Amino acid sequence: MNLFEQAKQAGFQAAYLLPVPQYDEWTRRRASGAFAPQTDWIEGDAPAAYPWANGLLLLIWPYAPLIPDAVLSGYYPASNQSYHAMRSLRERLAGEGVRTERAAVPVKTILVDWGLGTRLDSDLIFIPGFGTRFIVQALMVSLSDDELCYTPRQAPFEACIHCKRCERACPGGAITGRAYDWRRCLRAYEEGPDMPEWVMEKLTCLLGCEVCQNVCPLNHFMQPRPMTEAETEAFALDRLIAGDLKPALSIIGKNMKKGGKLTAQAAVLAANQKRADLLPLLEQQAQQTEGPLKDTLIWAISHLKKEN
Ligand code: SF4
Ligand code: SF4
Repeated sequence: MNLFEQAKQAGFQAAYLLPVPQYDEWTRRRASGAFAPQTDWIEGDAPAAYPWANGLLLLIWPYAPLIPDAVLSGYYPASNQSYHAMRSLRERLAGEGVRTERAAVPVKTILVDWGLGTRLDSDLIFIPGFGTRFIVQALMVSLSDDELCYTPRQAPFEACIHCKRCERACPGGAITGRAYDWRRCLRAYEEGPDMPEWVMEKLTCLLGCEVCQNVCPLNHFMQPRPMTEAETEAFALDRLIAGDLKPALSIIGKNMKKGGKLTAQAAVLAANQKRADLLPLLEQQAQQTEGPLKDTLIWAISHLKKEN
């Protein structure tokens, strides 16, 4: 079975094989502070970092948005599923003697450079047929010559209609015309238990911000789905504030536990949703907690008291 069929069998809806990419301009821009610190893990020079590889496999996993009042971003359950699909694909390829390694490369830039996607004013990447809601898993691969069948480079294209809906809706003011400032994007501040006050005040869901994707007309062909029963139970705010994260982590992946961010965001969301019923639990947790998480719990408590 060829590489693309194996990727489809693993659950990916599209797969592209590209030559090992070069993106010096992206690396220069990162050095000048153009991107959020979340890009620090990306290699600046892929040919030097993966000298054994002769291809980059990009695997696309589209997902449906969750209904707008869901407490969770639909990205994360899908991201975890795609991670496990990627792992099983790697195991299968290893069984056939194909060397692979997760690729630390700027996938958005590469998709645009190869004409497979286009960048919108919201800085999201749009792929025809998938909108902006997809996860990309990227693997460096070493294939034999007869398996090396690169996806042809496509002509660049435009999709954004510059309707400014994302600009008007963005709670942080990150989008201005065709410019995007990561410093004003909520997603840039959700890696740890402490967030700037303006981010806490504007937080609308756990782990991310869905606003620009929800309002973009290029995504309107996608049918939102409600949270499953398991998701609703796992992401109940009281459960997360109490530190009972196991069911949630089984849905979004263990690495999302880092530094108490899930508990912190649940506390902030409880405050923004005016959940006065959770005040005693927040106070109890604040007494038992130290460090930046305690500060966030205290902010949630005082915000709730002010609102009620
Ligand atoms: S909402 Fe309008 S301006 Fe913003 S990315 Fe979508 S099409 Fe472009
Ligand atoms: S994710 Fe949220 S904060 Fe960031 S640009 Fe989109 S709407 Fe603005």
